[in-house]
Amino acid sequence: MTRRLAQVHERVAAACTATGRRTDEVRVLLASKTMDVATVRAALLADAGARAAGSGTAPVLLGENRVQELVAKAPALVDLGPTWHVIGPLQSNKVNAALRWASAVQSVADDALAQRLSDRVRERDVPLDVWVQVNVSGEPTKHGASPDVAADLGVRVAALPGLRLVGFMTVGARSDDTAVVRAGFARLRDVRDEVVGSGAPGTADARGLSMGMSGDLEAAVAEGATVVRLGTAVFGERPPQEGPHR
Ligand SMILES: *Cc1c(COP(=O)(O)O)cnc(C)c1O
Repeated sequence: MTRRLAQVHERVAAACTATGRRTDEVRVLLASKTMDVATVRAALLADAGARAAGSGTAPVLLGENRVQELVAKAPALVDLGPTWHVIGPLQSNKVNAALRWASAVQSVADDALAQRLSDRVRERDVPLDVWVQVNVSGEPTKHGASPDVAADLGVRVAALPGLRLVGFMTVGARSDDTAVVRAGFARLRDVRDEVVGSGAPGTADARGLSMGMSGDLEAAVAEGATVVRLGTAVFGERPPQEGPHR
């Protein structure tokens, strides 16, 4: 685990260097779906060990697609104090359970969920970090707002009480053509630039771009990713029986 995690950080660093970016501009999020608590714990310990040894990297974030998995794993890892993000579709009846553990929701794709989250957290002292998920490839199996409406959605989400819009998230196109994948990531960046450039209330912090996974992180970093979400590169292949999580 220590080795794979180090390799992942090296890949990110190399991708940054190749495109003239600083390595500390890109945070690694571990997508831990289907991995058991012991495996996730091992990854967190490997990360802590690397930092103690002077890796200079920021602590990894953790991401779960399914609230059931989040609530199953998070309590067993509180001693390590990880930061959890929801990275899959969030049903309204699971919002309360998710917010017990997650400090950010990356998968806000419509007004209804944004409103629900706002209603739930508006009395809090600290705002909830949210990302608007955009389906840049238009593939029907993928979650996310259409790129055509994503900027307007972002502006509305940013204005909701209790929420802090921190950026935009996407799952890249399933394509072997790097140009296609990169164009999708560039589209997400355009949405981000439009929202931040609007100067609308609450949009100033919306600079994040969560994009890039094990197979396409280099393309994502080249297009400006600030968070890359990695599963297989760190944990190895997932069991084949799992359904689509995207
Ligand atoms: C599984 C998953 C990832 C990680 O995918 P890998 O290809 O295993 O790196 C990233 N983001 C989301 C939303 C995922 O569901």
